[in-house]
Amino acid sequence: ADDVALDPWGSASVADYRKLFEQFGIEEFDAVLPEVPNPHYLMRRGVIFGHRDYGPVAEAMRNDDPFAVLSGWMPTGDPHIGHKLMIDEIVYHQEQGGEAYALVADLEAHAARGMTWAEIDANTEEYLLSLLALGFDPEEGEIYRQSGNRRLQNLAFELGAEANFSEMQALYGFDGETNVSHMQSVITQMADILYPQLDEPMPTVIPVGPDQDPHVRLARDLAERMRYFKVTEAYASFEAEPEERVLVREAYDALGGDDADVRCEEAADYLREHHAGEAGASVVDKLDNAGKEPVRPRVRFLDRRATDAAFDALIEAVEGEKRVFEGHVDSFDLSRDAAEELAREVELDHGGHAFRAPSSVYHRFMTGLTGGKMSSSVPASHISLLDDPEEGYDKVKSATTGGRSTAEEQRELGGEADECPVYELYAYLLAGDDDEFATEVYEECVGGERLCGGCKEQAAEMMREFLDEHQEKREEMRPVLDELDIDVESPRR
Ligand code: SF4
Repeated sequence: ADDVALDPWGSASVADYRKLFEQFGIEEFDAVLPEVPNPHYLMRRGVIFGHRDYGPVAEAMRNDDPFAVLSGWMPTGDPHIGHKLMIDEIVYHQEQGGEAYALVADLEAHAARGMTWAEIDANTEEYLLSLLALGFDPEEGEIYRQSGNRRLQNLAFELGAEANFSEMQALYGFDGETNVSHMQSVITQMADILYPQLDEPMPTVIPVGPDQDPHVRLARDLAERMRYFKVTEAYASFEAEPEERVLVREAYDALGGDDADVRCEEAADYLREHHAGEAGASVVDKLDNAGKEPVRPRVRFLDRRATDAAFDALIEAVEGEKRVFEGHVDSFDLSRDAAEELAREVELDHGGHAFRAPSSVYHRFMTGLTGGKMSSSVPASHISLLDDPEEGYDKVKSATTGGRSTAEEQRELGGEADECPVYELYAYLLAGDDDEFATEVYEECVGGERLCGGCKEQAAEMMREFLDEHQEKREEMRPVLDELDIDVESPRR
């Protein structure tokens, strides 16, 4: 009964964040804050309250090393100010030098929420306009839709081989009624999380709400299970049989190794000297013919996103004297020596993980303007980024507050800023980078100098201005979005 339910598709709010720290091992963000070189105001104000393994990301920022940020959005409705937090977090990491990815989880919206493709397309466009208007740089970063990203789907398929139903059941409560596409959308999301590392493993941060933590946990597990092979082999500009390649490799290593410039004729001389009269004779002929061509080491990533299972199969294949070839296990026989050689090489290089375990940061949910959780399906509870500025003004004016029942009482006891959705608006959005102003509002409130009427008026005016500016920027971004040519056409109309 003490358990905090974390359900990515549920509507439960997380009442007690502390429990998350204990129950699931989410760490407090404050502990890592001093390591962040230029922390965002959401970090400084504790809106981003937790993390998993953010240290490597902070370190990469400090050292100007490669890192990535990825987050996404299920296009189930209008973008609202709660979504802005996540966009701000992506943009912040991009500005700090991260490779940034923003994705539209359209397959998930279709599978898990039953959205029609027409709704998804319309919402996708709105989301992307706000993303661009809030500062995402599409030239430096990548925007994609799950449905239009073949590489992503291939990765999802590979990852799916490593996850099974029992695991999904335990993590997400799936049962016999859960539709298959819903499960597939989970594995697609796993692929999203690991996608920034497809070309190179690097620290990657996934900014999310705490309800998305099960996804992060599963992705971290899967990252651990995915391995890659690196087989270094020598080759020359001729076709060689597997056992010949092993000899060439030996010659290459003996004559310098690594990046040395070794010519075929030199390798031939070496083999004549060390393998005279052996099976080496045929390769010596070929090498002689290739003459001055260089013998190069060639690094091949064999099934570089191999799962543990595939990895084991490859090892077994090598041990079973089969040849490992271009990511497939080929049925060529190898001599025992060649197989041992190959096994040694694989052993030598197989330590690599294809992905680093992704990191995450968690932001607080915004309280709804009417109290309770901010919900997309209750318009009065949130401010949509598409709301008419006057409507935004009105919504703030009618918001509940942490104020006392009378002005006298408020002057005496102070307001309860920590319980106030209007204060949240200041802290999460309206005060922007201005910590002094946010602190001033807080202190004036709890000190009883600030009364709710005036406070809301100020917030409402700022909100009107924010929406006005944001919507103007959105319009400016329309041609940019068109040019990006992100396919907002669904797979099936
Ligand atoms: Fe909220 Fe402002 Fe009232 Fe304080 S004064 S409770 S911050 S509305």
